[in-house]
Amino acid sequence: MSAPIAIRIQVPQPQTHLIEVEMRVMALSDDSELILRMPVWSPGSYLVREYARHVQRFAAFDKDGERLRFEKIDKTSWKIDVAHVDQVRVTYQVYAHDLTVRTNHVDTSHAFFNCVATCMYPDGRLDDAIDLHIVPPEGWEIFCGLAPAEGSKTYFEVADFDELFDTPVELGPHPYFDFEVEGVPHRFVMWGVSNADIDALKKHVPELVKVNARMFGEIPYERYVFINHLVDGGFGGLEHRHSSVNMFDARGFDKVELDEDGNLGKKYGNFLRLLCHEHFHAYHVKRLRPEALGPFDYQNENYTHDLWAVEGVTSYYDTYNMMGTGLLSPAAYVELLEKRVLELSQYPGRLLHSLEMASFDAWIKFYRPDENTRNSTVSYYLKGELVSWMLDLWIRTKTGGERDLADVLRKLYREHYKARDEGYPRGAFEAAVGEISGADPTEFFDRYIRGTHEIAWEEFLAPVGLRLKPVHDERGGASIKAVTRAEDDRRVVREVLGGGPGEQAGLCAGDVLVAIDRWEVAERDPDELLIDYEEGDVVDVHVLRRGRLHTLTMTLAKPGPKSYKLEVRADASQKARELRKGWLGVETW
Ligand SMILES: [Zn+2]
Repeated sequence: MSAPIAIRIQVPQPQTHLIEVEMRVMALSDDSELILRMPVWSPGSYLVREYARHVQRFAAFDKDGERLRFEKIDKTSWKIDVAHVDQVRVTYQVYAHDLTVRTNHVDTSHAFFNCVATCMYPDGRLDDAIDLHIVPPEGWEIFCGLAPAEGSKTYFEVADFDELFDTPVELGPHPYFDFEVEGVPHRFVMWGVSNADIDALKKHVPELVKVNARMFGEIPYERYVFINHLVDGGFGGLEHRHSSVNMFDARGFDKVELDEDGNLGKKYGNFLRLLCHEHFHAYHVKRLRPEALGPFDYQNENYTHDLWAVEGVTSYYDTYNMMGTGLLSPAAYVELLEKRVLELSQYPGRLLHSLEMASFDAWIKFYRPDENTRNSTVSYYLKGELVSWMLDLWIRTKTGGERDLADVLRKLYREHYKARDEGYPRGAFEAAVGEISGADPTEFFDRYIRGTHEIAWEEFLAPVGLRLKPVHDERGGASIKAVTRAEDDRRVVREVLGGGPGEQAGLCAGDVLVAIDRWEVAERDPDELLIDYEEGDVVDVHVLRRGRLHTLTMTLAKPGPKSYKLEVRADASQKARELRKGWLGVETW
C-alpha cells in the first residue's frame, strides 16, 4: 500500500450519526500550499448539495503530530499551510443523517455513506491513487462495489478520485445473497425491517442482469453490488459503475409470484423495474455517456442537453426489458405506457420547455420542484421515455423491423465507450439514430427533443398497426384545472394548471377549497363535485387564503382524459402486424 493518498473512514459511535474521516496526503511538493475540496454534488443526481456543510472538527497535522495552520477559502475548500512539510494528516467528522440514495445516513442499525459526500480531494490531484481503509463497527460487514485488496476485507486500492466518488458504502449486520451471471459475481444486500421475500429476489434479480447483459452483449464490470434500503414509503435509486443504491417501500413486496396473467404485484414489479433501471445505467450513463457526465467537475454544475437520452431511454428500457424477462406481461406493459401518456398530458409545461432544455435545467428545475414545475417544464424521465418509445417504433418502421433503438445504444456503446471510453458529443445520439435508421431524424429531434410539439402519436403508431385513444369520463363533467390534495378533512390546492379556469380566476397554491357553487368541498375532489356541470358553466369558488375567505368566479373547463387506451387497428397491414409483433413480442395482448 503506497498510494499518495490514504483515507480511513470509521463510525465508532453510530448513534451520534458521525463519520470519522482521516486523510493523509503524501508527496507534497515545495510550493507550500495544499487545498482540500469537498465535492458539492453526487453524479447521477443533478443538484448542488454542498456536502461541506456537514463537515465539522476539521484539523490538520504534520507527520510528527504538530498542528498545521489552515483556513477556509470558500464554502467547500480548506487551505492548509504546508511550508516545508512533505505530508499532511487531516481529520474531520461528517454528520450523516440524511436518508436518501445520494447522501449519508448513520444510526445504530447501519451506516450508509457515499464517498463523494464524505471524502475531500486535494486540488489538482483527482488522478491520484488512494489507499482506502474502512473500519466498520464490531460485527458489521462492508458492502460496496470496490474489490478488497489482496488478503484483506477492509482495505481497498482505489485507482483515482473518480472511482472513489463513484462508491457508495453500506455497513451493517445485514442479510445478503450472492449470485453469478456469466461468471461475474453479484451481491444483493438489504438494510431495513421489511416483508422482503429473499427467495423471490434470488430468482428474479439475476434475470434483470441477464436481460440487460443480453442487450449490450456483455457484462462490463468484474463485480456488482445492489445496495437496498427498505424504508417505509421509500422510493428512489442511484446508479454507479459497480453498484446501485435502491430505496424501496419496506412493505412493498405485495405479490412475488407470477399470477395467471403473468404479472407480479404492482409494487414488487416497480421494485424490480427500479433495480433494472439502475443496473441498466451501469451501461448507459456510467459507461456510455454524454461528454459532460464523466470525468466530472465536482465543484460545479455539469451541464448536458442529453439527460432525456440518459434517463428517458433508460426508463423506456427498464420496463421494456422487464417484459423481456417474462416478469411483466405485454398487457401490463401496455397499461404502463398508457399511464405515462396520461401523465404527460397533465404537464402543461410540455408545451413550453423542450427535452433538451429540461435536461440542461435539471439543476434548477427537476431537482427543485415547486408548485409551478408542472407549468414550466417537463420531466425528462417521463417525456424522455415516451419519445424513446416513439423513436424505437420510428426506427423499426424505417428499417422494416430490421433495427431498433437498442441498435443505436449498442452502436454508441461500441464507438464511444468500448473504443475510447469517452463521453459522446452533443448531437452524437441523433447522428447514430440517423445511421441506424438510414433516415433523417432531424425533424423528429426538432419537434420532440429541441422543440415542444405535441407528440403526433398516430404518425408513429399507425405504421405498427396501433392507435391511441383518449378516454373521457362518460358522465361528462367540468374542471377547475388544479392539482389538489385531501389534508385533514380539507381540500388544499397544490398546483394550479397553466391556462385553466383556476389560473384565470387567481386560484393559488395553498388555497383551501371551501365551496364550489356554494356546495361544501370538505376533502372531496373538486372535479368530482363538478360532474353534473359542463365546460363554460360559471361558478363561484370560495377559498381560504391566509385565514381570509375569498370568492373567485371561474368559467369551468372541459376535464382532460381520465385515461388513454392503446388499441390494435383492425385495418393494419401484414407488415404493420409484423412490426408490432417485433416490438411487443406478441401480435396482441
Ligand atoms: Zn435513472
